[in-house]
Amino acid sequence: MEKCALITGASSGIGAACARALPELGWKLVLTARREDKLRALQQELAGKTKVHTVVLDVRDGAAVAAACAGLPPEFAVVDLLVNNAGLALGLEPAHQASLQDWETMVDTNIKGVMYCTRAILPGMVARNRGHVVNIGSVAGSWPYPGGNVYGATKAFVQQFSRNLRADLLGTAVRVTNIEPGMAETEFSKVRFKGEDEKAQRVYTGTEPLRAEDIADIVAWVASVPARVNINNVEVMSVNQA
Ligand code: NDP
Repeated sequence: MEKCALITGASSGIGAACARALPELGWKLVLTARREDKLRALQQELAGKTKVHTVVLDVRDGAAVAAACAGLPPEFAVVDLLVNNAGLALGLEPAHQASLQDWETMVDTNIKGVMYCTRAILPGMVARNRGHVVNIGSVAGSWPYPGGNVYGATKAFVQQFSRNLRADLLGTAVRVTNIEPGMAETEFSKVRFKGEDEKAQRVYTGTEPLRAEDIADIVAWVASVPARVNINNVEVMSVNQA
């Protein structure tokens, strides 16, 4: 039987890599993000590998998240794996210079987006007594660095939310995993620097960052260990990252 995974932020980077990795393990996919053209291209790429349903969705919009999850077509309505991956860093300026608007966007996306998606999908998992919520946190949630301020705090939320979900779900077979990547080369830097490619690329100079596929492999791994095993937290960095 094909199981269904819903991935947020599937239009690029780690989310797209998860979409490429999961079909081999028998997952059909609900791919969500704001950029419809990217979702459609990925859907076409995966044609013949698995069934894919795309949903244009901004995770900051709680009502839209609830409606999208409630309105999935029957073939995709039973979600057994939720990958809460949509997220971003903006600016990463020192706290006394940072833009409040950037801070609010990070809170709305990285915190509220995870809350909305989890709240929409989790009741079905609990009712069926099976399922897995995989949150993409960050090493920034555990390790402070200059400019990390609100971004790091949003990922600390993801870590602590994951731990507390586990406490709520004890007695059910629903699993929760928090994956904390270090620097990975995706569109993350371009988004952080608001499209300034040169600045974005400079971040990776002289290092060999993780690749999106490295994180997707971990998502595939935590989702495929025996149902009795809950991998709580995975922290992963490039060998080059301090
Ligand atoms: P990308 O920028 O490549 O991907 C981010 C994804 O999130 C995109 O698909 C984007 O899609 C989606 N997204 C952003 N905002 C929203 C929104 N409001 N609603 C819906 N989707 C949204 O970066 P990564 O793949 O690197 O990032 C994925 C996750 O990994 C994030 O949570 C990030 O914090 C985390 N992470 C990344 C690290 C890195 O170094 N790359 C390190 C540690 C953690 P769209 O724009 O189409 O909506």
